Amino acid sequence: DAGLEKTKTNFFEQLSKAVVGKSTVDEAVLDDLEGLLVHADVGIETTVKVIDRIEARVARDKYVSTGELDRILREEIAGLLEDNNSGSSALLDSAGTTGQPYVIMVVGVNGVGKTTTIGKLAHRFHAAGKKVVLGAADTFRAAAVDQLIIWGQRVGVPVVSHGMNTDPASVAYDAVQKGVEMGADVVIIDTAGRLHNKVNLMNELSKIKRVMQKVIPDAPHEVLLVLDGSTGQNAFLQAKEFTKATEVTALAITKLDGTARGGVVIGISDQFSIPVRYIGVGEKMTDLQLFDRHTFVNSLFK
Ligand code: GDP
Repeated sequence: DAGLEKTKTNFFEQLSKAVVGKSTVDEAVLDDLEGLLVHADVGIETTVKVIDRIEARVARDKYVSTGELDRILREEIAGLLEDNNSGSSALLDSAGTTGQPYVIMVVGVNGVGKTTTIGKLAHRFHAAGKKVVLGAADTFRAAAVDQLIIWGQRVGVPVVSHGMNTDPASVAYDAVQKGVEMGADVVIIDTAGRLHNKVNLMNELSKIKRVMQKVIPDAPHEVLLVLDGSTGQNAFLQAKEFTKATEVTALAITKLDGTARGGVVIGISDQFSIPVRYIGVGEKMTDLQLFDRHTFVNSLFK
């Protein structure tokens, strides 16, 4: 878990400070814990939920030692996160090829690591023996199309692209069509995330969906929202806007290697009831982990 080192150190050090010289979990310890969770970007709603649950345990058991706080926190936090054994994670974990395209539509604003995440994902699926097709439907930015093509070459998977300023829905249609023709296991479609024009965003995403459904009626099978884990409240706001614009079914949270505040993973997943599928822990092709709630929670503690 090298990628989560900063969050782990930050969280663990502060937790140790909060309980130093104290044997029982009292009001003051809970106050410190609350501050710690907020500071780690868990978000206020989820923090209050965690504190309430621990308070209830303290009230029930009368005496909870600070030595037990680690374990209790792990249980409460893990309880807020969902298992990650469905959707594209299950496909990644399965053996062999299905010959049926599983379509992942990837959404998120520029700069969060969307293209990089798609490249890393393509690599993981490819390395797992799956046939992959990428669709460069973020046609709004020249760099996005070029970068995706470079990732495709690096990983060794085809990229369907019509260039910049072309119709994103038509790119998505062709990519899904190519996936069917090739007997691909997974088609990953990049999209433009222009949040400043919400109506446009909503229309564009629904048009992309509608058009790909002409090829595969139940596509997209997963709508993966990519969020930058180092941006705290901005990531929460983006989750709010994107869940309004389309049905988001899974999360990828990036740049957790660069932040001491990885609590955003817990807060966003809990608040929006969306499972975290992947976490990004670096810029390299291999720096994408399949999210596991127990591994993640354990990585917050020493
Ligand atoms: P996009 O605009 O959302 O497509 O973002 P990019 O994929 O181009 O990524 C923006 C920058 O973030 C690039 O410099 C990436 O290398 C970097 N990046 C993406 N994911 C991660 C990550 O998990 N960790 C780190 N440290 N950097 C990342």
